[in-house]
Amino acid sequence: MTDAALALDARAAVLATIDAQERFLLVTHEHPDGDALGSLIAMQALLRALRKDSVMVIAPDDFPLPNEYRFLSLDGLVTGPPSDLAERTVMFLDCGNLDRNPLAALHDGKTLVNIDHHHDNTRFGTVNYVVEDASCTAEIVWDLLHQTGVELTTGIAEALYVGLVTDTGRFSYENTTPRSHLMAAELIGAGVDVAAIYRRIYEEIPQAKLALLCRALQSLKVFTDDGVASAVLTISDFAETGAEDSYSEGVIDHLRALTGVKVAILIREVTANGRGVQRKVSLRATDNEIDVSAIARLYGGGGHRRAAGFTSELSASALIDAIRAQV
Ligand code: AMP
Ligand code: MN
Ligand code: MN
Repeated sequence: MTDAALALDARAAVLATIDAQERFLLVTHEHPDGDALGSLIAMQALLRALRKDSVMVIAPDDFPLPNEYRFLSLDGLVTGPPSDLAERTVMFLDCGNLDRNPLAALHDGKTLVNIDHHHDNTRFGTVNYVVEDASCTAEIVWDLLHQTGVELTTGIAEALYVGLVTDTGRFSYENTTPRSHLMAAELIGAGVDVAAIYRRIYEEIPQAKLALLCRALQSLKVFTDDGVASAVLTISDFAETGAEDSYSEGVIDHLRALTGVKVAILIREVTANGRGVQRKVSLRATDNEIDVSAIARLYGGGGHRRAAGFTSELSASALIDAIRAQV
């Protein structure tokens, strides 16, 4: 079968599962981003419009959600597996592999529907609907909305738009296609207030976020020979600026934007689950020459060709050296 035929087959399997099952549990990756949250909310609305029982679950560690997404309404959200978990079909949205979801209780023994757009998705589901050329998972949900005939309300359109605008880097990344803009047109036609959402996501920056960016830029190193730029944020950078974890979102875009940079690296220290200091590494590439998801996979992570990440216990300088060697 061709890729297109396989995808249609997978879509039919998702639609058949939605049709056949009555109760769903929707989940996404840890530290949910705009696409994760937008896809959850839109899918929840889709299922409820079809009179299905649906709840979303996000782990307690993922709260507070990033400031920019707090305006989204998460009606029907729980923070742990519900008591009737065994009777629910678990639907993963925007989650490339099972390790990226912290709720292990959800991972086996049930029907798992995996709806995603990461090219390195491990196809962990019973049903795997992975559309690599979709700009965002929200775009796949938008298509399912058409397939099921569910009405595109302003609320659904807003949720989908948040996924679309954030995963395409405000329609600037190479995943932005004619289809992404057609989707935007339809969502705006359904009542999305573009300027209001833009302001809410990108222009209500807490002062501590700017202070954290300042710290990151003070640590900037540019290796002109290999076209690598790096920045490091320590636990004290977060503590002293009063920044939340999610305030580092967007910092790496400044490194990638530097002239001559092929790969940008942001290393953030985190202390999670009593495991001592770990480092979350974000990688961005500026062109298709270097696939940063391949570097991330060497360290147990993954992602897209131009945006990937992993977690490590190595020191920041060891990580930068190792990544430069790969580049
Ligand atoms: P981030 O740098 O955290 O914004 O992540 C960029 C992209 O890399 C995300 O969209 C994910 O697809 C991917 N990613 C980040 N961390 C991991 C990980 N630990 N495992 C797999 N993929 C990851
Ligand atoms: Mn995501
Ligand atoms: Mn996504």
